[in-house]
Amino acid sequence: MALELSGFYYPNKMARIYVLSIEETIGSEAMQKVYDLAGVPPELYPPPNNFAKAFDFAYYAGIGAALEKMYGLRGERGLALHAGRASFSGGLAEFGAVIGVSELSFKAIPLRAKLKVGLKALAETFSKFSDVIADVSEADNHFIYTIHRCPGCWGRSSDRPICYNAVGVIEDGLRWLSDGKSFAVEEVKCRAAGDEACVFHIRKDPLN
Ligand SMILES: [Zn+2]
Repeated sequence: MALELSGFYYPNKMARIYVLSIEETIGSEAMQKVYDLAGVPPELYPPPNNFAKAFDFAYYAGIGAALEKMYGLRGERGLALHAGRASFSGGLAEFGAVIGVSELSFKAIPLRAKLKVGLKALAETFSKFSDVIADVSEADNHFIYTIHRCPGCWGRSSDRPICYNAVGVIEDGLRWLSDGKSFAVEEVKCRAAGDEACVFHIRKDPLN
């Protein structure tokens, strides 16, 4: 399958966390089939373990589309969410260390303030280390995390939001920041569904 490249790149290390986490569940044979189906070059299996901005958005989204073909939308959702939730322990925290926010989780500041700073740092990290364009704003009861240029749904279309991996990354980031608390993260708009950006609402109060 010929794949039209985007010319926008995701960091290798993040793509690696994504791919290896999915591989852990489905096995390496199935993962190679995913690569095949998606048209991702086999030499990128797995993506290299470095900070280089080199994994094309089209590869990233292609993997999601291949997972959908093989396991259905629910299967893809489960795998991508799980991979997102593995992000910090899998290496995303290292990006935080690079931009100097890794002490944030230990700081004695009010939880909401911490969440706000942390979400902004997450958006900033992605904007710095990839071609993702993201920002954070705030409403009364929730934060609004907006991805204007999103790798998860690049070139895809769907009747519902499909950026599950981003949901998982945000959930895991907030868990890391808040010393283990869970927050409701919902994607309310998605480019794949025809919206202008992928928009996530994050409840300010933890679930547990
Ligand atoms: Zn998206």
